[in-house]
Amino acid sequence: MGDKAKEALRQLEGIGPKTAQLLGTMGIHTPADLLRHFPVDYEWFTPPVPIRQAVPGSFLTVRARIDTAPVTHGFGKNAIVSFRIRDESGSLRISYFHAPYIKSSIHKGEEKVFRGRVRDGGSYGLSLDQPEMMEPEAYEALTGSIRPLYSLPKGLSQKRFREAIRQALRSGASWPDLLPADCLEAGMPSGAEALRGIHFPASRSQLEAARSRLVLEEFTAFILRVRLLRQEEGKGENPCPMPVSAPSSQPEQLLPFALTGAQQRALKEIEADLKGEKRMNRLLQGDVGSGKTALALLALLRAVDNGYQGALMAPTEVLAEQHFAKISALLESWKLPVKTVLLTSSVKGTARREALGAIAAGEAGIVIGTHALIQEGVAFHRLGLVITDEQHRFGVRQRSVLAEKGTQPHMLVMSATPIPRTLAIILYGDLDVSVLDERPAGRLPLKNAVVPPSYRENAYRLILREVQKGNRAYIICPLVEEGESLQAENVEDYSRHLQNYFPPEVKVGQLHGRMKAEEKNRIMRAFAAGDVQVLVATTVVEVGVDVPEATVMMIENAERFGLAQLHQLRGRVGRGKDQSYAIFVDGSGKKEKNKRLEVMASTNDGFQIAEEDLKLRGPGDLFGIRQSGDMRFALGDIYQDHALLLKAAELATRVLEKDPALQAAEHSALRELVLQYEPEDMGL
Ligand code: ADP
Ligand code: MG
Repeated sequence: MGDKAKEALRQLEGIGPKTAQLLGTMGIHTPADLLRHFPVDYEWFTPPVPIRQAVPGSFLTVRARIDTAPVTHGFGKNAIVSFRIRDESGSLRISYFHAPYIKSSIHKGEEKVFRGRVRDGGSYGLSLDQPEMMEPEAYEALTGSIRPLYSLPKGLSQKRFREAIRQALRSGASWPDLLPADCLEAGMPSGAEALRGIHFPASRSQLEAARSRLVLEEFTAFILRVRLLRQEEGKGENPCPMPVSAPSSQPEQLLPFALTGAQQRALKEIEADLKGEKRMNRLLQGDVGSGKTALALLALLRAVDNGYQGALMAPTEVLAEQHFAKISALLESWKLPVKTVLLTSSVKGTARREALGAIAAGEAGIVIGTHALIQEGVAFHRLGLVITDEQHRFGVRQRSVLAEKGTQPHMLVMSATPIPRTLAIILYGDLDVSVLDERPAGRLPLKNAVVPPSYRENAYRLILREVQKGNRAYIICPLVEEGESLQAENVEDYSRHLQNYFPPEVKVGQLHGRMKAEEKNRIMRAFAAGDVQVLVATTVVEVGVDVPEATVMMIENAERFGLAQLHQLRGRVGRGKDQSYAIFVDGSGKKEKNKRLEVMASTNDGFQIAEEDLKLRGPGDLFGIRQSGDMRFALGDIYQDHALLLKAAELATRVLEKDPALQAAEHSALRELVLQYEPEDMGL
């Protein structure tokens, strides 16, 4: 980024050095970057409704009179200020926590607008906790408008960020239209209109149109990017032939288990690729727990047998460290002299220098790390195979980074995301796919339960019983909407509460995104070893973590997760011989059953879940569900925006038919943008 662009950001009104620095930490350096930071949700200022319409769990806006003088319970910081409000249709209890000062602004008899989520307050009846309180006139002025909500770091307010966006739009900041004008359908907003519409929509329909336009753009760029890469790759022959499987090593016979039929088939396909005519480009897809890691290890050993190095990359340090521990232990028990090194950001100082040295000299046969391993340009001696675990974006960026460096290793991508084959082909062209559609023998199917919060005690009792048997449990903590720091606080509160609840010999640990990598690894190791038996965590444990003794997965506020994510989460249990349980706590307070959770309870089959997911998501469901953990585009969702994905594939085909390598003068801007376009850099 040039200094000029930085300057442009500072020239926006209200952006001082401090804000600019905060924006910098979010990867925002120019007004155009700013506009690329899309809202994660919207606030809809709907007209107030009568109190009678309050339903637990729903978001409510009411205009009502303060009916009782405020009362303070408790002391100091922990004081709760509460009072009742009333309109013609009924009354509600209002509570504010940790805000004793609010008492002085509450006057009996005054009319205000209150906005918040309704909770069933037990003997107090329905209540609103911490509602936003506004003057009726102020609210009237806002009624009918839509306000964007952004995911922001601490210290940067929604208001300030909104203002910055407004300024950027006013300054005319934008980015060139990715979509050739002749490709657009009538009525589709222009790029600039779409930007305005996604940040400050005047209506729901304008928002939908803007979003569709931007999603189409992002899908098209992605598909063009992949197709161009594939063209490049298709040219050469196998740059790293691996014909040998050393007779001394028959590791599949050393594994502590017999490979399933599906694993055997996939292994054959992988081995055929490695010694075949072309460079391997394979997706290994298998539901959670289907045993992908063992295949990764066998492929890595094949690379080593042939004098190459192999790299295994995981999306999180926790997972990289776990792979490293398991693989090193296996190799050691087999007495195979294959040097395996771990390289993550927590490997520092001398250890790091040694690891880098061993990689560069070719001493390290197997290198395990996070996805940054390739991106940071570690020098390998003779890299022949790159395996990415739990990556759903199929390493577009990795491939381009490697290609730039002139290395052409085989690529194997492992994913549990049950992307229907049709979608995978649209996205990734003629990628080869192996499917593990068989679970290792001797596993009992998970028992699932969808329960209201009142069931919690029973769940804790079940957890206690399991722990006493030597098993372990995960509890995914209640979600909070306001970002990562509060999420962390929530995990801390919850685990403290739980530690008090359980007898002291039960050790409760915690894991969240705010913790340092070393700290996370320490906890995960303790959990794997059984020194911690109950792990309260955010969704950081979502992918890949494998602790076979874990038999309970309890998910609070399960109604707020996407199906794919719930399936990934419950995939953390049911990995050993014992019966495992998934408990989905529906915290919505709604009486009717939650359709998505019912789907979870009705099947353990990831593919079926993916299909149901498609059906359940209507086109109107813009931001209703948190984006599932897979296939994260900045805005698009391959399931929900299936139709746009098809359209994008058509667009890409049309563009490439006219201009196969995207080299025509008229496409020079498009080409540049597509080549720059790194889906992994965007959004999250
Ligand atoms: P995933 O496909 O989700 O990555 P893992 O590779 O972590 O699954 O395997 C899940 C568990 O099953 C691990 O503990 C692994 O050791 C075990 N496992 C893998 N293959 C087999 C098999 N063929 N028979 C028995 N257990 C297996
Ligand atoms: Mg895995």
